[in-house]
Amino acid sequence: MEEFSSLSINYSYHIFTDGSKHDGVVGAAFVAFDPCEVYVTKKFKLHPSCSVFQAEMLAIHKACEWIASNSNNINSCIIFSDSKSSLQELSNPYSYNTFAVNIFHLLHTLSSSNINVGFAWVKAHIGIAGNEIADIAAKSAASLHKSPDFIHTPISHIKLRLRDSLMDSRKSFYEQPLTSCHTKKYLPTFDDLSAFLSVIKPSFAITQFLTNHSFNKSYLHRFNITPDDLCPCDSAEKQTFDHLIFSCPRFSNTRLDFYISCNNFKIDVQQPQFLIKVIKKCETTELFTRHIENIVNNLKAFNNT
Ligand SMILES: [Zn+2]
Repeated sequence: MEEFSSLSINYSYHIFTDGSKHDGVVGAAFVAFDPCEVYVTKKFKLHPSCSVFQAEMLAIHKACEWIASNSNNINSCIIFSDSKSSLQELSNPYSYNTFAVNIFHLLHTLSSSNINVGFAWVKAHIGIAGNEIADIAAKSAASLHKSPDFIHTPISHIKLRLRDSLMDSRKSFYEQPLTSCHTKKYLPTFDDLSAFLSVIKPSFAITQFLTNHSFNKSYLHRFNITPDDLCPCDSAEKQTFDHLIFSCPRFSNTRLDFYISCNNFKIDVQQPQFLIKVIKKCETTELFTRHIENIVNNLKAFNNT
């Protein structure tokens, strides 16, 4: 890759390429200058799902095709692009990128016809006329009222759509009235759950807390593993996660530390969605996690189960 400089005098034709993606529309263009500085502009519209990288590569590919179609008049040409990623792709002779492979094939054909094609990087938006014309042409190509010249959606876009779709289905499953009721007591919406999991890693103890699939007697009793669901602390209260987190005297040590920290940050643990406030502070997050780990890791021994 060479920078824009006086090297252009070594080539009779100068082509500037550019790609554009703005406001959901994608375009590519090149402008080719002959030795007399007379130029032609070519514009190409891409499907809205295409990336700006595809637009940049399409512009270069179309420029190479144009050189091939005018091979009787051209003996040397330099292609200027402001896309470093495109030029880096083309500097890799082992690239599997479809554009790169097609461009290599065209370059090989042109070379066989003794047409010398060079590539150079040019800094965008510094007033280089060819680059400015290509930039305007690519933007106007994106808004053309015609069907796209290029419609291949990039893999990255498909992955993104699949991830979005997966997240949507998880979200709608989570927010159905009869699912994840235990978790939703603490984290009412899917966004709350996502925020929680982005801060607290789902360790064994945290997973037990979130799913309620744990050694607490309320859960074990549902499956007839224990004869009752009462907590051994006073044998009067059901041993639910609520009881363990908020009132069981067996776990008062880590609860006290957690409550003091919450009080310092004016977090009321009796309020719904207190956890969302808890995870916004490092200290309360750490003490809440420690409290849950203390409960889960000692529950079997406490219950003698
Ligand atoms: Zn208890």
